[in-house]
Amino acid sequence: MAWFLNHHECYRCGEHWTDEWSCQCDDECPYCGAGDSSPFESEDLSGYIEQEAGEHIVYVSPASADDSPDYEEVGRYRSERIAKGIMTRRMRKESQKAFG
Ligand SMILES: [Zn+2]
Repeated sequence: MAWFLNHHECYRCGEHWTDEWSCQCDDECPYCGAGDSSPFESEDLSGYIEQEAGEHIVYVSPASADDSPDYEEVGRYRSERIAKGIMTRRMRKESQKAFG
């Protein structure tokens, strides 16, 4: 499944917090308890790239992961550009699986 780091800013007290979740969903302010705060920004954490010995290792969390990301190695690439392309394609494929 896709995994998001959601950034929230409270419309009532102005505090900022982040929340990791499997959707871009509303959250309750941990400071003042105001509900239904929509994230103003969401980072997709369902894939990332690690560099090791001159190679770029692509990890993507599959659609079947339940309540936390479960990263699997997709492949190792010399080129960062190719690694990013592979990661983007795989993430799109996994999110299509998750949402049918
Ligand atoms: Zn608040």
